[in-house]
Amino acid sequence: MHVTVSPALQFPLLIVVLLILLGGRAGAESRSRKTQNIFLITTDGLRWQEIFSGAEAALMNKKDGGVKDTNGLRRDFLRDTPEERRAVLFPFIWGTLAKQGQLWGNQNRRSTVRVTNGRNFSYPGYSEFLTGIVDASIDSNDKRPNPNTNVFEWLNLQREFHGKVAATVSWGVIPWVLNVERSHLPVWSAFELPPGITPIPMPATFRDLLANSTPIWADVSLDTYTAFSAREIVRKENPRAFYIAYGETDDWAHEGRYDLYLRAAHNFDRNVGELWTLVQSMPAYRNCTTFVLATDHGRGSGPVAWKNHSRAIAESSSIWLAVMGPDTPPLGERADTANTTQSQIAATVAGFLGRDYCEQFPKAAKSIAELLPKR
Ligand SMILES: [Zn+2]
Repeated sequence: MHVTVSPALQFPLLIVVLLILLGGRAGAESRSRKTQNIFLITTDGLRWQEIFSGAEAALMNKKDGGVKDTNGLRRDFLRDTPEERRAVLFPFIWGTLAKQGQLWGNQNRRSTVRVTNGRNFSYPGYSEFLTGIVDASIDSNDKRPNPNTNVFEWLNLQREFHGKVAATVSWGVIPWVLNVERSHLPVWSAFELPPGITPIPMPATFRDLLANSTPIWADVSLDTYTAFSAREIVRKENPRAFYIAYGETDDWAHEGRYDLYLRAAHNFDRNVGELWTLVQSMPAYRNCTTFVLATDHGRGSGPVAWKNHSRAIAESSSIWLAVMGPDTPPLGERADTANTTQSQIAATVAGFLGRDYCEQFPKAAKSIAELLPKR
């Protein structure tokens, strides 16, 4: 049967059909995606080996791990099986996140996540996951303004998220990775910022404690300050997209102190857990916030190489990724996942907020579609 519609009716009909189609699509999208806030949380140079197998017995001694109190460390973190060791080292990650979310990167179960910048050190790593792009010109940890736009800067340019994006970072170079001089991304750092940029304000007591503490490395503030500043920013600024960068794990590993590397890793887990408890207590965040956990690079293995990471240590390109939130199916520890890259994190962060990062930045790696709600 052929129905003819008079020309006068064709245009209004077209509008009605379009409205139904668009309305249906918008409805489907809002039903499928629950994330309203995204937190990206990293800790510098924490190995996938500890995440998935816990403390390594061979390094829990004075000779290879610089351990001061061997008995105390073994009592706290040594157990018979990898599952028991990781659970006692990372009680939040294995007790809560693994039950509600997913962990990627256990090479013993044929899941890999890799750094693709080929350098396996910090600035190229932070730049890779924040911008989604591998830029061969980024070849040092110097304070050089990043020429590439990052996902938080891009979100902050959008009307819906403008003024609701923030970062707090322990390493003094990250504001240059984020190019805050250009991006004007609100950031807290214990160190000098680019000209004209002031840090997110913190209480006087906090500033006093910070000024009187001794960092491990001159350009990395202690994680305890990063943790406090993160909670302060959540309570006072309510960011919808928030980047938090911890740093102690890398410092203690370079110092050859496996005991303090483990304790910093344990504190990272506790700080993430406390932040999760805080956001779940706040109506603006409860059940609509996704946490993405990651790292900037891996490290070597064995009695010496565990301390370091570089282009020369090929396995320091191996990293891990953990995600939990209302849109992430609770599949726990993943196995047999195809190669995933650090560069995919930027588009994945945007994807949780329903934004297509690669549409704007075609050179950026695509999102990890399996983690995101269906569009
Ligand atoms: Zn390092």
